[in-house]
Amino acid sequence: MSEIIKTSLKDLSDEELSELLERCGVAAFRADQLRHWLYQKWAADFSEMKNLPAALLGKLQAGYRVFTLQAEETLTAEDGCVKWLSRLSDGNTVETVLIRAPERATVCISTQVGCQVRCVFCASGSKGLIRNLTTAEIIDQVLLPCRYLEAKINNIVVMGMGEPLHNLDMLSRALDNLNAPDKFALGARHITISTSGIVPGIRKLADLHRPWNLAISLHATSDQQRAQIIPPDYRYPLEEIISACQYHRQQTNRMPTLEYALLKSFNDSPEDAARLAALAARLHAKINLIPCNPGPSRYQAPALAQCRAFLDRLIRAGAQATLRTRKGDAIKAACGQLRSRQRTDN
Ligand code: SAH
Ligand code: SF4
Repeated sequence: MSEIIKTSLKDLSDEELSELLERCGVAAFRADQLRHWLYQKWAADFSEMKNLPAALLGKLQAGYRVFTLQAEETLTAEDGCVKWLSRLSDGNTVETVLIRAPERATVCISTQVGCQVRCVFCASGSKGLIRNLTTAEIIDQVLLPCRYLEAKINNIVVMGMGEPLHNLDMLSRALDNLNAPDKFALGARHITISTSGIVPGIRKLADLHRPWNLAISLHATSDQQRAQIIPPDYRYPLEEIISACQYHRQQTNRMPTLEYALLKSFNDSPEDAARLAALAARLHAKINLIPCNPGPSRYQAPALAQCRAFLDRLIRAGAQATLRTRKGDAIKAACGQLRSRQRTDN
């Protein structure tokens, strides 16, 4: 018989947590103590919460969980980057990556198990969508590297498995908790959400008026070219994506980043570079080039010299652009690959 899955405390709103503690018969200040353990001490178990009464912990433990992830596999790269495959309570698995630079630590988090967009070059989408992650499962991916480093991470990029704007309700609740000064207290400007260009989602995100950064996975500079790598169900016309980005900018004052996976002999010509630079200029956007990681499709990365030449063309055309070449970034771009190799899902 399977064990009943307990509710995570991080899936409760502040009001629900207060009501729960009231029902447990403890004073209101216990909620602050509990929040401190959850979000500032990154507790993974009730047994860590030393200043809370044992009777209260016993009552909470009967119906609630502190942490939702069971790290199943931890891969460490030479440059200190770490990739986790975590087991969720229903047996599904999810990937999280820690990217380390001398001055900062960035965590790349997933929002779904699988993805229904199913871009042809991406391992995350190769088997479609299994389910959305809960708010607590999203938050716990940020706390996992904090526990590992014994230090708070500095940036969050929502660039792991899944299309974040297909799970915006859970994601926005998670990010609000991560921003909240009495919880994880990470500034909103240290958070970037990457989308494949889900127009209604970009507009809904804009209407939340949160100063989170937005990255658009463009990968192609015409609708016809994009149609070859993104299936039709969740693909939107480029002009609609551009106007949604402009709306997002009006509402939030944040300039987008354009992500562009370099796919050999597909989108790496001088004409592609010229069109990409022109699009970026219209959007006042920076460009982030990602050489293709070997994935489920026949696409490959151009040689490094070709990637650099593409970057130079963008820069000569006046764009602000970077090329992702470091190892940790390579594991990050390969999000979804660990899980698909393992086939560990139920
Ligand atoms: N679903 C969101 C966020 C997750 S993917 C999105 O698509 O934006 C993060 C980035 O990695 C996206 O730009 C995605 O297109 C890119 N990506 C996925 N598979 C890749 C691969 N095999 N090589 C290079 N980039 C890849
Ligand atoms: Fe989904 Fe993003 Fe992968 Fe496309 S690239 S299948 S949107 S996770």
